[in-house]
Amino acid sequence: MLVAEAAPQFPNEQRPVAELRGVGPALAEKLARIGVSQVQDLLFVLPSRYEDRTQISEIGSLRPGSRVVVEGEIQLTEVTYRRRRQLLCRITDGTGSLTLRFFYFSGAQQANLARGTRILCFGEVRKGPLGLEIVHPEYRRVAASGPGGERPEPLEEVLTPIYPTTEGVPQARLRHLIDLALGEAARSGVRDWIPPAMLADLELPSLVDALTMMHRPPRDAHLPELLSGRHPAQRRLSFEELLAHQLSLRLLRQEIQGDPAAPLANDALERMFLQSLPFALTGAQARALAEVDRDLQAARPMVRLVQGDVGCGKTVVAAAAAARAVGSGLQAALMAPTELLAEQHAKNFERWFRELDVPVALVTGSLPARARRSALASVANGDINIVVGTHALFQESMEFARLGLVIVDEQHRFGVHQRLSLRDKGARDGQLPHQLIMTATPIPRTLAMTAYADLDVSVIDELPPGRTPVTTIVKPESSRDEVVRRVHQAVKSGRQAYWVCPLIDESEELRYQAAEESAKELQEALPDVRVGLVHGRMSAREKELGMYQFKEGTIGLLVATTVIEVGVDVPNATLMVIENAERMGLAQLHQLRGRVGRGAHESHCVLLYGGKLSEMARARLAAIRETNDGFVIARRDLELRGPGELLGTRQTGLADMRVADLLRDADLLPAVQAAAETLLRQNPEAVRALTRRWIGAGERYGRIA
Ligand code: ADP
Ligand code: MG
Repeated sequence: MLVAEAAPQFPNEQRPVAELRGVGPALAEKLARIGVSQVQDLLFVLPSRYEDRTQISEIGSLRPGSRVVVEGEIQLTEVTYRRRRQLLCRITDGTGSLTLRFFYFSGAQQANLARGTRILCFGEVRKGPLGLEIVHPEYRRVAASGPGGERPEPLEEVLTPIYPTTEGVPQARLRHLIDLALGEAARSGVRDWIPPAMLADLELPSLVDALTMMHRPPRDAHLPELLSGRHPAQRRLSFEELLAHQLSLRLLRQEIQGDPAAPLANDALERMFLQSLPFALTGAQARALAEVDRDLQAARPMVRLVQGDVGCGKTVVAAAAAARAVGSGLQAALMAPTELLAEQHAKNFERWFRELDVPVALVTGSLPARARRSALASVANGDINIVVGTHALFQESMEFARLGLVIVDEQHRFGVHQRLSLRDKGARDGQLPHQLIMTATPIPRTLAMTAYADLDVSVIDELPPGRTPVTTIVKPESSRDEVVRRVHQAVKSGRQAYWVCPLIDESEELRYQAAEESAKELQEALPDVRVGLVHGRMSAREKELGMYQFKEGTIGLLVATTVIEVGVDVPNATLMVIENAERMGLAQLHQLRGRVGRGAHESHCVLLYGGKLSEMARARLAAIRETNDGFVIARRDLELRGPGELLGTRQTGLADMRVADLLRDADLLPAVQAAAETLLRQNPEAVRALTRRWIGAGERYGRIA
C-alpha cells in the first residue's frame, strides 16, 4: 500500500529514549550520561560478560568461586549478631545445604524467607564460617515442583547479559530497557548501514541478528567464544565500530584539509640548510622529506606523521621543512612536550640555523616575563621566523605574523583535540598552517592505519650510519653491586652513565624521595664520581642545570626519573641502568634505552628487576633484550598488552571501544578501510549515522556536517 511505503522505514530507533515507557526525566538524564539518548543507543550498550542462569546446580556439587543458580527449601532463617547484625538463611535441595547471608534486610524480607519456603537463588558461592554460602544472592520464591517434576516457573531461557556498571542505572533496569529496545528492533528493524554484499563477503550476520545474539544469547550459545569476543555477532559489531572510528578520523582529516593552506613553494633555504649539515640524509630520511616536501607545496594543509625510532633523525627532517617554510616567507613553530625537550630542540635549531642567519626563539612557561614579552613581540611582528616551545606556544597571548608550519614532537602526548586547537591558532586570512607530527613510538602498520587514519604517515626505518647497537642485559636486583662497579668502570674510562628510577610508588612524595635516595646511595658507593639528579619535581632551571652539567661532562652519573625518556641527546653516555624495569612498558623502556648508543662507542643497557618475575614480565624483558628495532618491540608490546598501552590511547579514543579490539580484530582492518572509502564516497548519511551511533555526540573528533 502506498501509505505504508511512505512511512519512515525505521520509525523507532531514533526516538528519544525518554519516550520509552518508564523512562522519566531523572532516568533519561542518567542514561544520557552513559551516551544513551535515542532508543537505538540502548542496543549498543553491550554486555561485558554473561552468566548462565539457565540451569540449576545441585547444592552438593557447588565449588567456591562459581556463580550459580540453586533451588532449595528453607530450613532455618535467623538473625544473628556475629560482629554485626545479619540474616542467615539455610537452604537444602537434598544434595547438600547452603547458607545465604544478608547484611542488609527488611522485616518483610525476613518474613518472606520463612522455613519451608522454596526459593530459587543466584549468586557467587564462597567459603564461609558455616560452610559454603552466598552473600546477598538474587532470589525469588518459587512454588514447589509439580507432581511430574515439571517446573512450574521457567528459568532464564537465554544467557544473562551483564552490562558494564552504569552509575545510577541498576542492572535489572538497564536489562529491561534494552529488552524493550531489542523488541522494537526485532519488530521494525534497525538500520543496517553496511551493504549486505559486504557482510556476505565477510560472512558476518545482519545487525539485528548480531544484536539479538549479543543481548540474548541462547542457552546453547558458545560461551567461551562470546567471552573471548570472537563470536561472529561480535565480529560483526566490531567491524561496525572500527568502521565508525575510521570514518570519524577521516572526517577530521577532511575537515582540516577542507580549508586552504599557503603552498610552500620556495626550496632555496631548505637546500642551503641541507648543504650546511655535516652529514647527508639517510635514504629513509630523504624519502620522508620528499613526502613532506610534496605535501608542503600543496594548497591544502599537510597533516603528516613522521614515525621513526629514537635517534633516526626525525628532527633534522622537521628542520628542513621549517627551512622551506621560512624560505617561502612564512613562520614555523615547533612544539615539544616538556621544557627540557623544547630547550634542546631550540639549541639544535639555533646551531643549524645560525649559519643561515635565521634567528630562533624559545618560548616556554618559565621564561622570565621580559624575555618572554620580547620574544612574543618579535614573533608577532615577523622578525623571528622559527619558534620553539612547549604548550605555551599555543596560549592566548601568542600571536604569529604568518604561521605556515606547525611541528609537533611526540604526538602521542598531545592527541587529536589539541591538534584541532592548534590548527585554529594558526589560521590567518582563512589559511591554515601545515602540520608535521613527529613520534618515536613506532606502531605496526595496520594499527597505524587505524589509529592515525586522520594523518598521512612517513616512516623513517633506518638509523644514521656509525651507530653501534646497544647491548641489553637483564639482571636481578641482587646484582646491584656488580652493576654499580660497571658504572664506575664506564665513568673512569671517560664515558657517562644514566641511572633511571622510574616512578612506581603511589605517592608523589615517596617517588621523588626514591630517586633522591638512590642518588645519595650511589654517590656514597662511588665517591670519586660526580653524581647528579634530575626529576620531575625540580624547577625547569634545576633540571636544565643538571642536564646541562651532564651534557658538558661535569657530571659522570645522572640519576633520573623518567623525565629523560624522550629526546635528550648526550652521545658520550654509554651506559644506562633502569631500575624496576619489569614494571615498565616496552615502548617506554625502548625510549629510555634510546638515550644511549648515540655516539660511536659501544653502549649497554642494564635492566634491573626486583622480586620474582611473572611469566608476562619475563616475556617482555626478553623482547626488549632481543631486539633494538622499535617496530618489532611495538609489535611485541601490542601482542602482550594490547593497543591501549602502546598508543597512550585516551587521546586516540581507541581504548574506549565497546566491542572491537585492534589486535584481536586486526584481520578485519583491511575490509574496514575499504568500507570506509566506499561509504565516504557514496553514502554521507551512513557516515553520519555510524559515527553518531558508535562515537556519540560529545566525543566525535570531526565536525559532521
Ligand atoms: P630523532 O629526533 O629521530 O630522535 P634526531 O633528529 O634528534 O633524531 O637525530 C639524532 C642525532 O643524529 C642527532 O645528533 C642528529 O644530528 C644526528 N643525525 C640525524 N640525521 C643524521 C644523518 N643522516 N647522519 C648522521 N647523523 C645524523
Ligand atoms: Mg627526537
